[in-house]
Amino acid sequence: MISQRGVRLLTAHGLRESLQKAALSTTCANHKSYKLVVVGGGAGGCATAAKFSSKLGKGQVAVIDPANMHYYQPMWTLVGGGMKTLEDSGKPMSEVLPRKADWIKQKVVGFDPHNNKVITNEGQEINYEYLVVALGIQVNYDQIKGLTDALETPGVCSNYSPIFVKRTFKSLKNFKEGNALFTFPNTPIKCAGAPQKIMYISEEYFRKHGKRDKANIVYYTSLPVLFGIKKYADALWEVVKERNITVNLRHNLIEVKPDSKEAVFQNLDKPEELSNVKYEMLHVTPPMSSPDVLRKCSALVDGTGYLKVNKETLQHESFPNIFGIGDCTNIPTSKTAAAVAGQIGVLRKNLSMVMEGKTPDSAYDGYTSCPLVTGYSTCILAEFDMNGNPLETFPVNQAKERRSMFHMKKDIMPHMYWMGMLNGYWEGPKYVRKAMHLGFSK
Ligand SMILES: Cc1cc2nc3c(=O)[nH]c(=O)nc-3n(C[C@H](O)[C@H](O)[C@H](O)COP(=O)(O)OP(=O)(O)OC[C@H]3O[C@@H](n4cnc5c(N)ncnc54)[C@H](O)[C@@H]3O)c2cc1C
Repeated sequence: MISQRGVRLLTAHGLRESLQKAALSTTCANHKSYKLVVVGGGAGGCATAAKFSSKLGKGQVAVIDPANMHYYQPMWTLVGGGMKTLEDSGKPMSEVLPRKADWIKQKVVGFDPHNNKVITNEGQEINYEYLVVALGIQVNYDQIKGLTDALETPGVCSNYSPIFVKRTFKSLKNFKEGNALFTFPNTPIKCAGAPQKIMYISEEYFRKHGKRDKANIVYYTSLPVLFGIKKYADALWEVVKERNITVNLRHNLIEVKPDSKEAVFQNLDKPEELSNVKYEMLHVTPPMSSPDVLRKCSALVDGTGYLKVNKETLQHESFPNIFGIGDCTNIPTSKTAAAVAGQIGVLRKNLSMVMEGKTPDSAYDGYTSCPLVTGYSTCILAEFDMNGNPLETFPVNQAKERRSMFHMKKDIMPHMYWMGMLNGYWEGPKYVRKAMHLGFSK
């Protein structure tokens, strides 16, 4: 067995050597082999395992993931607003992973791509012919000084974790008067719209409960824009103006002081300029990064630490038997479950071709989507491609706040996720879009 200390010491450099030594002391029970290993059983991993275990048959595919629960994370925005519960958003992992795949309920702690194996926290070496990396993105609450302590105090909350999301609605209910602050960190994140969706929901909550005139709502974002795609950013500027919300661009939360209920922001254009702002409610979107285990394997990642794949084929740039899907990849599109849906069909085709000895030729267009919920009954459905061009499914102006889009987000998308995507049936809205536009769409 590799000791825990040994595992921690595995650096990209010493990985192979350590593995060879470890191999000498492991028993056969510690080795397993699969045609396809999927690392991570979230949105991308589960959909991949469903596709390939039904194609390759029982015993050919393994999914490695230590989590007891599989969460439909997009629902956490609604959990924060009190429209759904955390329990509504999750199912036991054992119920969602495909029956024909073996679930290895362990954590991957090392990759050895030169020898086609991964190592788990229990010292197992899992060999593969093909590997799909679907580790998601890592949330780093500890990177903001004082935040982990503050998240145990009233008024501080975060929709980005199943541990903290329940605190959001509690904070809304307990809010009396003062500043309600919402933050967007200085790193790439999953669902870049979610930090402001909860702000619009909160604003409506305060209005409906007679507290709006006592609430000063402020959005602090590290970005230079309200949203990355101009068409939707323009619409969102109208929403913030109409709702009297203050937006501070290029401001990054660097510290929380729970004793004095203050948040410290750095002006990213004048780094020496710090402002201490009192809060009654503080919703934090934490900094995020590529998962540590991936980042430390330099052969697999680019300079930013994300899995280095071809942005169209999803095949690894150096190891042709490795593919990536979802948030852990360096594909330059917004990290969402919708993007995973857009990628899964490409992965299905291209990995199958590689398994047959052919060259992958299917190309991902970067499709991603962000249902920008703007309250308890409205939503702007942003959909766009890798180049930031809108790629809308419906033949209406999707930048407009609509009740229909809200119901799609709240009532229809969860079913599409659980029943369609995770079972390998939903590959994004491409064909619906073509039909809706009578064939005149990409
Ligand atoms: C608040 C919030 C709102 C969102 N809103 C939307 C939305 O409206 N629309 C939308 O499309 N998307 C939304 N998203 C984003 C969406 O949930 C993610 O982009 C999507 O889940 C990414 O899928 P993934 O497979 O890459 O990662 P995940 O689904 O996060 O799965 C990663 C899996 O890897 C496992 N794992 C991690 N480390 C290891 C390890 N070392 N070994 C083995 N397994 C490991 C984890 O347990 C997890 O199961 C939202 C997310 C949040 C948090």
